[in-house]
Amino acid sequence: MGEDRRVTDPDVVVVGSGPNGLAAAVTAARAGLSVLVVEAADRPGGAARTEATTLPGFRHDLGAAVHPMAVASPFFRRFGLGDRVTLRTPELSWAHPFEDGTAALAWRDLGRTAAGLGPDGPAYARLLGPSVAHARAIARFTLGPVLRVPPDPLVAVRFGLAALDQGGPLWQRRWRGRDAPALLTGAMAHTVRPMPTLPPAAAGLALAVQGHAGGWPVPVGGTQAIVDALVADLVAHGGRIETGRAVEDLAELPPARAVVLDTSVPAVLRLAGARLPGAVRAWLRTFRFGAGIGKVDYALDGPVPWRDQATRTTATVHLGGTRAEIAAAERAVAAGRVPDRPYVLVAQPSVLDPSRAPAGKHVLWTYTHLPNGSTLDPTELITAEIERVAPGFRDLVLASTASSARDIGAWDRNLAGGDLAAGAVTLRQLLARPLPTADPWHLADGLYLCSAAAAPGPGVHGQGGYLAARSLLQREFGVRTPPSLAP
Ligand SMILES: Cc1cc2nc3c(=O)[nH]c(=O)nc-3n(C[C@H](O)[C@H](O)[C@H](O)COP(=O)(O)OP(=O)(O)OC[C@H]3O[C@@H](n4cnc5c(N)ncnc54)[C@H](O)[C@@H]3O)c2cc1C
Repeated sequence: MGEDRRVTDPDVVVVGSGPNGLAAAVTAARAGLSVLVVEAADRPGGAARTEATTLPGFRHDLGAAVHPMAVASPFFRRFGLGDRVTLRTPELSWAHPFEDGTAALAWRDLGRTAAGLGPDGPAYARLLGPSVAHARAIARFTLGPVLRVPPDPLVAVRFGLAALDQGGPLWQRRWRGRDAPALLTGAMAHTVRPMPTLPPAAAGLALAVQGHAGGWPVPVGGTQAIVDALVADLVAHGGRIETGRAVEDLAELPPARAVVLDTSVPAVLRLAGARLPGAVRAWLRTFRFGAGIGKVDYALDGPVPWRDQATRTTATVHLGGTRAEIAAAERAVAAGRVPDRPYVLVAQPSVLDPSRAPAGKHVLWTYTHLPNGSTLDPTELITAEIERVAPGFRDLVLASTASSARDIGAWDRNLAGGDLAAGAVTLRQLLARPLPTADPWHLADGLYLCSAAAAPGPGVHGQGGYLAARSLLQREFGVRTPPSLAP
């Protein structure tokens, strides 16, 4: 195993170099296998790249910007991410400003957060406290396969009950004020799904738990720094990456004991349909994409003038008003309409990492939810929403670059129609992502799927890649003990 380290004759080929593809490649290379990664784009990283898309010197994250899942991820903990990349973690995990100039604030400190939530403070602490106290166990549970006995069943049950509470028709039952439910709804809306339903509640609560534990950090230099660390480790352990090479047929690849696809589900069917057992093929044909996003990157002459002062200190801001208003916006998107009052996710990484922009200037990363495949330029929709809570914002804009939902699907072929999750996060596709098995990465003999279309789903956590690689190490090479990934 791995004695012949020529990557012209690899043990493992990985198609796609997003964070999951790279995590799979690193894990296989660390186990002593020779690994070749083939990537369609001209640079590795998928939806975790950083580029100067507006003006020279302004570095924008093309996809992921804020990294609670990387911090919580068992893979990245083994990889020693914090020793390889400088992460800046704000005291304020996220802010949710309103038009009246006030904001609901999710501090890393749960007690401080509860203290700011008025009559709902105790209920917020009761809902999240037990999970925050076991944040690592929650990460193991939520960033692993769903169809198994969870590693910490009691912690999982309590978390599940909280998700049922916030994902069901009585989701308002425990709240009296505006701020606590809005704070949670802003996190739940990351799934781009109608609410109240279970997947947004589970994902939102998991994000909130990490917000009150490890925090919501940004990497110095951009998300690209995480990709660069993965690439450096892979190359140091004999792996090779070929960019600018879109794989259209598995027959183009050199023979290998295992092929790992960091691709969409339709690409699996196109590339490997004939190799799949009939039942797998039939199940994959039912896999569906969800709504899309439209994104705007801004180069700014100064920081965003949020009316709420604390909002100026965080990396992440949710806009869209109250719980009811955000839920209405998400219902509109799910029905194929552009909402009048959209939910907007904002990251302002240069508040914490001045290297992103020239001295005194800032970058701003924003997106909103749109129907899948929408060609709408979201610049005005997003600019107007920011202006509501940060008057004067418009005057700071030096340049901006917009991507419609259709554009997003064009620069990362996994995100068809702008679906940032690479497949709708419905209950069915949460439980069976992409297959209803305890090893959902294993598609056929020697063939694996590791992308966000496989468990545990979207996010820069590398867990899809790591768990796919663990499966292939065991099945194809008889390796049961995971390799060390430490720096
Ligand atoms: C706008 C946006 C914002 C986001 N924000 C966050 C965030 O703040 N935090 C967070 O944790 N997550 C965020 N995400 C989600 C996160 O970026 C993705 O879930 C993650 O990148 C998925 O990793 P992946 O390896 O599965 O796939 P991707 O990152 O999508 O990479 C897949 C790669 O495979 C390549 N590929 C596919 N098919 C082929 C083929 N046939 N041949 C060759 N190459 C191929 C693609 O070119 C691409 O480079 C965001 C995503 C987007 C789009």
